[in-house]
Amino acid sequence: MEFSQYNVNALMYITPRPDLVFIEGSGMWLTDQNGKRYLDYLQGWAVNCLGHSPQCIQDALVAQSKKLINPSPAFYNEPAIELAGLLTANSCFDRVFFTNSGAEANEGAIKLARKWGQLHKAGAFEIITFDHSFHGRTLATMSASGKPGWDTMFAPQVTGFPKADLNDLASVEQLISDKTVAVMLEPVQGEGGVIPASREFMQALRALTKKHNILLIVDEVQSGMGRTGELFAYQLSGIEPDIMTLGKGIGGGVPLAALLCREEIACFVPGDQGGTYNGNPLVTAVGIAVIRQLLAPGFLSSVKEMGHYLSQALLTLSHKHGLEGERGEGLLRALKLGHELGPKLVEAGRGVEPVGVLLNSPRPDLLRFMPALNVSVAEIDQMIVMLDALLTQLKK
Ligand SMILES: *Cc1c(COP(=O)(O)O)cnc(C)c1O
Repeated sequence: MEFSQYNVNALMYITPRPDLVFIEGSGMWLTDQNGKRYLDYLQGWAVNCLGHSPQCIQDALVAQSKKLINPSPAFYNEPAIELAGLLTANSCFDRVFFTNSGAEANEGAIKLARKWGQLHKAGAFEIITFDHSFHGRTLATMSASGKPGWDTMFAPQVTGFPKADLNDLASVEQLISDKTVAVMLEPVQGEGGVIPASREFMQALRALTKKHNILLIVDEVQSGMGRTGELFAYQLSGIEPDIMTLGKGIGGGVPLAALLCREEIACFVPGDQGGTYNGNPLVTAVGIAVIRQLLAPGFLSSVKEMGHYLSQALLTLSHKHGLEGERGEGLLRALKLGHELGPKLVEAGRGVEPVGVLLNSPRPDLLRFMPALNVSVAEIDQMIVMLDALLTQLKK
């Protein structure tokens, strides 16, 4: 079907979209309305950790939809109980609250920290966050985010989110006062351009927050669920945070996210937190299928190996084209272009015939790569060959 035959104007305009309608996906590949295929390095924005429509998610959805879709969050259901058990057994956390999106999980983390502050820190409520951080698109999470311009976009902001600089401990220390209840950060800033917090910084931040008896919250919506080669990115630095949020990969493509905390922090009482769809068995059954794959023997070590392979391939490309190198953890990586070529590469990549490549440019001088965690060497090689040709062509 031709794109012009669709009437897309009933959809609210929120972002410029290319004239494509995706019909099917399988693994690293998407197919559009004309049957053209694309090698997909966005994967629903780091969401499809096992690629498009993997068999285990299809099976979980079919089986669970035949059994029970939503008894309401007022009752226990089996998949939510099991998934919470798997998450706590494989992390330093004891309690889980499921949500539908990363932003909602972060809202929950903010509420939990403020509640803890009311109970244990004389009403302290400020949460120190970081410049260039991204925590979501609700009013509170936009206020917590350090995206340039977001402080005035829907003024007035939710107050209480002073901003420090990533990997600069003094900038955090300077903001700590009687009002501070927590520090919240992404262990690898994703939307900010794939900027890892250093191991030293994470360790120093843990020591500093302990010293001041304030909470450390990690937003692992993008960095969690195997993306960095560890199940959770905080494990890269050998620390134990107080609160963690998960999203994106946890549902492998379906809307599922989570707020986790240690037992001592779990201070919500009835009435504080809830939500109609939270922890419904349809999506938590998918979460179980996903985490079982991630925990299968050899899976996470193969993420590390593929991350290393992608890193080397990007470095080689960088040398060849005189770019500025690459960075990241595991299979969350960025190529530093040195020029504002990103948007052009994204567009040209889609246009390659007979198959296109879907790339992402979170900043004009950067490309970000978020493949499925089970991406193959051949699929990395194919993308690198295409990117190599695009760079040669665009430099002319
Ligand atoms: C994507 C993202 C969010 C927001 O998640 P949504 O599911 O889009 O609400 C929050 N934090 C980080 C680090 C993210 O990458």
